[in-house]
Amino acid sequence: MSAEEAAGLAASSFGIKVSAFPLGSQQDCNFLLEGDGGSAGVLKIANPAFSRTEIEAQDAAAELVAAAGLRAGVATHGPVVVTAGGGPAIARVLRYLPGGTLTGAGYLSPRVVAELGAVAGRVSRALDGFEHPGLDRVLQWDLRHADRVVRVLGRHVRDGGLRARVTEAAEAAWRSVESAAGELPVQAIHGDVTDDNVVCSVSGGLRTPDGVIDFGDLTSSWAVGELAVAITSVLRHAGAEPCSVLPAVRAFHAVRPLSAAEAAVLWPLVLMRAAVLVVSGEQQAVLDGGNEYVNGALEHERACFEAAVSVPAEVMTTLITNEAGFTRSRPRVAVPAPGVDLGRCVVLDLSVQSDAVDEGAWLSPGLADRLALALLDGEGLDGGADAVVTRYGEARLDASRVLAEVSPATVATGIDVWLARPLDLGEVSAGDGLELSRSCAGTLLPARIPVHVGVRVAGAPEVPPLVRPEYAAGWLALTADPGPLLGLAAGVAVSDGDLLARRAAAFADVQEHYYADPPRIERGWRQHLAGVDGRVYLDMVNNVAAIGHAHPRLEAAVGRQLRRLNTNSRFHYAAVAEFAERLAALLPSPLDTVFLVNSGSEAVDLALRLAFVTTGRQDVVAVREAYHGWTYASDAVSTSTADNPSALATRPGWVHAVDAPNAYRGRYRGASASRYAADAVALVGSLAAAGRPAAAFLAEPYYGNAGGMALPDGYLAAVYAEVRRHGGLAIADEIQVGYGRLGHWFWGFEQQGVVPDVVTVAKAMGNGHPLGAVITSRSVAARYRDAGYFFSSTGGSPVSCVAGLAVLDVIESEGLQANAALVGSYLKGRLEELAGRHALIGAVHGAGLYLGVEFVRDRGTLEPAAAETTAICDRLLGLGVIMQPTSDRMCVLKIKPPLCLDVAGADFFADALDRVLTEGL
Ligand code: PMP
Repeated sequence: MSAEEAAGLAASSFGIKVSAFPLGSQQDCNFLLEGDGGSAGVLKIANPAFSRTEIEAQDAAAELVAAAGLRAGVATHGPVVVTAGGGPAIARVLRYLPGGTLTGAGYLSPRVVAELGAVAGRVSRALDGFEHPGLDRVLQWDLRHADRVVRVLGRHVRDGGLRARVTEAAEAAWRSVESAAGELPVQAIHGDVTDDNVVCSVSGGLRTPDGVIDFGDLTSSWAVGELAVAITSVLRHAGAEPCSVLPAVRAFHAVRPLSAAEAAVLWPLVLMRAAVLVVSGEQQAVLDGGNEYVNGALEHERACFEAAVSVPAEVMTTLITNEAGFTRSRPRVAVPAPGVDLGRCVVLDLSVQSDAVDEGAWLSPGLADRLALALLDGEGLDGGADAVVTRYGEARLDASRVLAEVSPATVATGIDVWLARPLDLGEVSAGDGLELSRSCAGTLLPARIPVHVGVRVAGAPEVPPLVRPEYAAGWLALTADPGPLLGLAAGVAVSDGDLLARRAAAFADVQEHYYADPPRIERGWRQHLAGVDGRVYLDMVNNVAAIGHAHPRLEAAVGRQLRRLNTNSRFHYAAVAEFAERLAALLPSPLDTVFLVNSGSEAVDLALRLAFVTTGRQDVVAVREAYHGWTYASDAVSTSTADNPSALATRPGWVHAVDAPNAYRGRYRGASASRYAADAVALVGSLAAAGRPAAAFLAEPYYGNAGGMALPDGYLAAVYAEVRRHGGLAIADEIQVGYGRLGHWFWGFEQQGVVPDVVTVAKAMGNGHPLGAVITSRSVAARYRDAGYFFSSTGGSPVSCVAGLAVLDVIESEGLQANAALVGSYLKGRLEELAGRHALIGAVHGAGLYLGVEFVRDRGTLEPAAAETTAICDRLLGLGVIMQPTSDRMCVLKIKPPLCLDVAGADFFADALDRVLTEGL
């Protein structure tokens, strides 16, 4: 039917005089009706195969779903019988639901997948108990008939290899389904709550499924089929894999609890659905070769099938039953009598928290072998070990990789054994229903060669020696700890309970954590961070760890000093003199006098007090949207609402804020940004004129909160001059941007061509050791001596000083400032190239390794894309990158990695960001 004919039909049958636009459908004929007043609904001409009773049932079901609070495509006109395609057909107009579906192959976030599962659950509940004669139909989509559908239509699959795999997978899955079929509740189901048929509301650029359309597959069937169909549709989306569906299972289960039998057949039903989709799609392609909708869908259907078979059903079933709260007892080996005696056996700990993986040792191939042989060869009184074994179920960091978008297989499903002498295992058996496997032939375990010993449930699929953490619970349920067979104690699963809940209960919650669902990070190395599951992330956010995580030189210096002496700076020792000299030497004249504290907040607080006592005044001019610390004074001058939402309302009267000199989105943009200086000068002047001249002007010399934006040329020169003209001091907060991060300049103020009166430093100074400093002129420091008191028990301690010296040594000897310039400008170039391809990127800010990518919904209005920025950070985490939003609008990626970031890391980050922006949020 043409669009013109459809429009004519809408007018003649329903009195709706509008235009019609065809919508794709596999079975029906659908048109969007649109007039001047917007959408008038969807004209649906049912496939003549459907009876009037069936259509009435569908409309009644839509009403039930709508009554349950979901948006639903309920009928507003009809049904009436019309003539279409040369014969009678049933037509009606359904309510058009705006917002779009999840159609396509774009990425679906765990949040969206969960909402899809929740919608399926709500539909299931709404239809529970619904009775109608139109439900009694035999549909090929009814999973109760899936085995027959695959058998009958399988011949249409043209690719013989695919055909065989589809048939075989369906046969295996059907055996599981059949065995539980009697326990599966049957009810009315929509039967097609898929990505194509859920409609979304869109808020903040992000979609949330909250409605359903197309009740054409409504039937009586297994209730769990509603969920199986929904989650199968997730599998065809970018980056999706079997574990991606688990949020939907959890959400469905929360709305409509699954029984144990339903949880057990869910994945087999997913396999059946995927198989049915493939065979039906191929059949449809044969019948209706010209239908683009059908041809396009074929590829997606195959993708669903390939994803569904990529992990054994047994593994997925365990994960699903765990989600639904049904835990199964784990298999255990029978301890043989007489037992195997390995002699003196050493357990090799290769976990993230093991000392054996220190200093990046985990990155060198063959670590386990080297360590094991060294233990066998051990010298000294004890001599060597007779055997070395790894742990069952342990996430091994030596199995991990850096810069991996997909988590590597790290979790051991068995034990690796090294023996000093060969050992015959003889007739050892794992016991009833279990199979012992070893990577060597025969029962003789050789000496000095690692042998992998595993035990799996008889008949279970082949279990790889290492599996990915997401699936580990599923794989481990198919195995048993082989330890007791070898005379070892069973590995005890140590659980720290729900650490996040413990943190929430014991730690003040204003001390937030990154991510709603954060990985537990227990190790860092250079620009990498490792979670306890062995997943390694590229750390693109840790400006504090400037020289990289766990730097051996820093560790050695601090360890040595802790062993020797740690006391306070009222004692006389070398380190404090040396560190103060080194810091002073980094700054231009007259900044030659150093105070040592423990943090940036303290440094800012002290800098302000220096200004107060030096000038005898109380007023301070600071820049809006900046953060300077949490102590009383540093908090008072912090006006960033991202850090403190009530910052502006609670600002004391002595703080006077000037506009953030944001040349991208502030009051003055582009070339007119030079006017910020004039405004700030005017404010400083007006304070003086009003008899309250400022004690100080405080600013970050490079605009950090905006993602690293240079201040307008001449800005600090003009404002500093005016402040000084009225007797005030210029304070530069270099806590974030200073210390080499900007690459081209060691200090941010150098970019502005000025010299401040007071400089505050922290963060990078100690590389995580609590260290801060205020550096000023001897005369300012002397004024403070006359009017105040200063002593910090730990500021300038021997340990702090050697930490600070070691950091400076590393920055210099490893050329980290030059690296920041080089890798930073390479990365900025890559990000600018992305900006040319992705409209969401409004601007790329920054210099060196202080960069910001600002996301906007519209390059004209610059509407901040805050929700999108958080979603981007969440997806980046999944791809192995730690990144966080910044700015008062939370729409900027704050890119400030350790200064040892290399080009490979920069590329990994830029590629991951490109992928996220390409695949959608
Ligand atoms: N000033 C600036 C510019 C900062 O970024 C910070 C910390 N984010 C501080 C001061 C306060 O430093 P600290 O957290 O070490 O107290």
